[in-house]
Amino acid sequence: MTTYKSTCPLNCWDNCGFVVEVEDGKIVKIDGDKEHPITKGKICGRGRMLEARTNSDDRVLYPLKKIDGEFQRITWEQALTEISDKLADVKQTFGSTAVLHSHDYANGGLLTKIANRFFNSFGGATELIGSICWGSGIEAQNWDFGNAASHAPEDIYNSKNVIIWGRNVTRTNMHLFGYLQEVRKKGVKIIVIDPIYNGTAKIADSYISITPGMDGFLAIGIMKELIRLDLQDKTFLEKYTVGYEDLVEIIDSISIQKVEKLTNVPRETITKLAHVYSEGPTATYMGLGMQRYANGGNTIRLIDALVAVSGNVGIPGGGANFGNTQVGQSFDSEALTLPEKKKESRAFVMTEQAEKILTATEPPIKMIMVSCGNPLTQVPNTALVQEAFHSVDSIVVLEQFMTDTARLADYVLPSATVFEEEDIYYSSMFHHYVNYGPKLVEARGEAKSDVWIWTELAKRLGFGEDFNYAREEYIKMGLGSLQDEGITFETIKENSHMPLPVNLVPWHDFQFTTPSGKFEFTSAIGEMKGYDGRLQLSYPRESVYTDKELARKYPYSLLTIHPLRSNHSQHYHLIESLQTVKVEVSKDIAENLGLLPNDIVRVFNERGEIKGKVQILKESSPNIVCIDEGQWHIFGGSVNSLTPHEVSDNGLGSSLYDCLVGIEKV
Ligand code: SF4
Repeated sequence: MTTYKSTCPLNCWDNCGFVVEVEDGKIVKIDGDKEHPITKGKICGRGRMLEARTNSDDRVLYPLKKIDGEFQRITWEQALTEISDKLADVKQTFGSTAVLHSHDYANGGLLTKIANRFFNSFGGATELIGSICWGSGIEAQNWDFGNAASHAPEDIYNSKNVIIWGRNVTRTNMHLFGYLQEVRKKGVKIIVIDPIYNGTAKIADSYISITPGMDGFLAIGIMKELIRLDLQDKTFLEKYTVGYEDLVEIIDSISIQKVEKLTNVPRETITKLAHVYSEGPTATYMGLGMQRYANGGNTIRLIDALVAVSGNVGIPGGGANFGNTQVGQSFDSEALTLPEKKKESRAFVMTEQAEKILTATEPPIKMIMVSCGNPLTQVPNTALVQEAFHSVDSIVVLEQFMTDTARLADYVLPSATVFEEEDIYYSSMFHHYVNYGPKLVEARGEAKSDVWIWTELAKRLGFGEDFNYAREEYIKMGLGSLQDEGITFETIKENSHMPLPVNLVPWHDFQFTTPSGKFEFTSAIGEMKGYDGRLQLSYPRESVYTDKELARKYPYSLLTIHPLRSNHSQHYHLIESLQTVKVEVSKDIAENLGLLPNDIVRVFNERGEIKGKVQILKESSPNIVCIDEGQWHIFGGSVNSLTPHEVSDNGLGSSLYDCLVGIEKV
């Protein structure tokens, strides 16, 4: 048995350090690396499951082609020749953008960028932009600050108060939970604002229940109280912001009573929160769910505005912590992706990909290549995604298992797992360490790394010279921008992890990267993109305030939260107890409909339906239904059969939480 350091590749806040045991060329155990400065030896069950993923008997180990509706094993030579011929044909007949590259973030490795190198060298393709996950929030922070940058995890030691707003860190960000437990003992006040009383709320000094989709109104209410009490940071507002008068106009246009009604948060709580924000440093950690609404970008912008008005921007212990994109921006992406090779381009917003596939002309989408993603399960409005994927001539999926998307493909190409290829890994969400992931075992069967697959296709398509590099050389290209900081492939390999040179307290110099160089309450970037750059009083698309008739028909808000034990859809097939749909309902729904635990219910709206077993939430805002995202079709189906695919208000995010449903006992 030999022990190696490695890292978790999953799309998660924490990007943990691993210690992996290998015996006879097989991964036998995964544990936490106690020497990792942030994750300190603790990992979650999703990370441990990577051993089962690697060794599973159900892995796709050979190239497969669907012939007469059945998958049959073929050789790599046949697969690569046929796929490259199809790509060449489509490009010649319709142009390169008739190929859609549908991808997501299943793997946090730097070399996933090689897929973009392939499509750029191909001459361009239709690419996905924005994100189902956090697109609106990132765009919102780009408008306000010029970038989405979080404070370093250790900066929480400088906070007096911590607001956890819509992020269940026990489930999705376990190392922040560790920090919370630690600072709480030192007297830091922790407040959780969330529609659901979750594991994080259990350790908080106060839990504030809020109506889903109304978080922006709560931020307005708190700002209203800050101004009424004359507690706003006047120096910061005068010297470092633009558009404050527009913000005040919005704040003045709504009464505190209306805020109470919309949010279901009483006035005295709002006033207390104003004091908490003004008696800082107060750190705000936002979750991702509240920006998956039609008003999601505006929601994050209003919380950013609250952090700014209360003087918590750019100071140790403060911050509007959402994503930390400065981490990913440290790398030399262009060296890896060769954007100058692109001759044609077209982009679909990720959440809208199905609708765009169905309506695209000049050229239509003829072929889809899927990597690092499972759109059939993860993209909103499953029925539309199915229709869209069925409508194209050829689908190629790079995968490790027969996911819902792989089953729909014409070709499935077996991908290697994290332990079967060398890469470096990072997460642009929380901490700023890059981790080394060595190749520890040979890829099983005929599985190959995605880099190998793109290289072989490139060779057959005549641009192999762009792919004439070893993995190590690609990693070094991506690290070119960090050379002067002493961060090289060798130092990362030697230390297993290295801190990247990011701002640990973003905006500490009050030099914002917006067009004005200031924090922008009224966004010039927004205006340049054709939006109203001012903050708004905006509502979810599906709510009693925007569509009374819809709300009468479908009275409950559906939240599609991350599963505890699976990273999105990645582990459901490996854990038997996950293979039923769990429908969590708020107490009031259970009482009104006479539902008991384990009753089977049908949850439905005009987009689709899903059946599952009832569980009753202990404490939450009323009228809430929660179903974990990621469930496979064979185990009951994805909750996305209910969710909408329309974009959020700033154009780059999803609105999949903006979803009303009905429910009935079956
Ligand atoms: S899923 Fe997240 S918390 Fe779990 S091991 Fe991986 S990085 Fe760590």
